Amino acid sequence: MKIEKNYNLTKLNTFGIKATAKFFTEINSEEELREVFNLPEFKNNQKLFLGGGSNVLFTKDFDGIVVLNKLKGIEIIEENEKNVLIRSMSGVVWHDLVLFTVEKGLWGIENLSFIPGSVGAAPMQNIGAYGAELKDVLVSVESYEIKTGNKRIFNAEECELGYRDSIFKNGLKGEYFISAIVLALSKVEKKNIEYRVLQEHLEKNKIEVKNSKDISEAVMSIRKSKLPDPNVIGNAGSFFKNVFLSKEKDKEKIKELVFNYPHISYFDEGDFIKIPAAWLIEECGWKGKKVNQAGVHDKQALVLVNHGGATGEEIKALSEEVITSVFEKFGLKLTPEVNLI
Ligand SMILES: Cc1cc2nc3c(=O)[nH]c(=O)nc-3n(C[C@H](O)[C@H](O)[C@H](O)COP(=O)(O)OP(=O)(O)OC[C@H]3O[C@@H](n4cnc5c(N)ncnc54)[C@H](O)[C@@H]3O)c2cc1C
Repeated sequence: MKIEKNYNLTKLNTFGIKATAKFFTEINSEEELREVFNLPEFKNNQKLFLGGGSNVLFTKDFDGIVVLNKLKGIEIIEENEKNVLIRSMSGVVWHDLVLFTVEKGLWGIENLSFIPGSVGAAPMQNIGAYGAELKDVLVSVESYEIKTGNKRIFNAEECELGYRDSIFKNGLKGEYFISAIVLALSKVEKKNIEYRVLQEHLEKNKIEVKNSKDISEAVMSIRKSKLPDPNVIGNAGSFFKNVFLSKEKDKEKIKELVFNYPHISYFDEGDFIKIPAAWLIEECGWKGKKVNQAGVHDKQALVLVNHGGATGEEIKALSEEVITSVFEKFGLKLTPEVNLI
């Protein structure tokens, strides 16, 4: 197993931030993972497992070991007339897993097409898009405890998946390496096209959904038109989470916001209302703004970008300015979705 020193991580994070890792290695099998657990460079240092690097911001060089996850393999482990259980290793590219399932005519993750990154990071923040979340199909997560190397299987409930959140980002942060996940998908049509933007796209382009691949292709086409491509301009997708206010607990705050900002954008989400963070950021005048080489994207205010050569510190400083100005104007606290390292 090759251990590299002072490894350049610029190409391993979609922000394109220049940072180095004191030690670096790559795992291609669970045997190699077990070897890593016994390395002195692993035992005696901070550790960071990395997939596609599409949800991290390196704010400085990483003073520890970065382990790049390349565990591959997708298998159908059980099926009946209606359902299929699929197990995917965590180093598989998420979109490759989506393609595998839609090619087989399965329903369940087509709305999550084209989300960058690896399968193993998907439970970390319960990836979601276009009216679907990993939570809807996740059965279990296979993992290794980083401290002991012991294997543990979490059932879906134990993962405590919430809006861009899970136990792996909270109570068990940094404690487990996710090695594989199991999903329950459907052979029977389970069309999920309620999400407004998706519905509008299908109508406008006169697309009649006959299979999950039709949805996957529609989602890909919307995403390509709306989101900046990290290969062209460094970014990690949505930098902030949307704001959820409880209709019960935050009744007064909601009233105040609607009174002061009658044009406020919000969505009814059952017991909550969702206020798009992009709207709040735009209202504070940040859309398209540039501070040094860091910026707020000119078409999607939720996305912070690296205009070329920005440091992680610069992006972080910009994110803090955005958080402060949204708080001062609306009294609402934005939280980052991206993992600051
Ligand atoms: C253009 C763009 C669009 C995006 N759109 C969406 C979207 O629509 N919805 C959405 O939810 N997200 C979106 N994202 C964010 C990102 O793609 C997802 O969060 C994705 O799951 C990250 O995967 P990754 O492998 O790149 O994770 P990384 O960035 O490599 O890692 C993220 C975090 O997870 C940890 N981690 C990674 N793999 C493992 C593992 N196997 N075990 C334990 N910990 C691990 C890392 O240590 C790190 O803390 C977008 C990003 C970009 C750049």
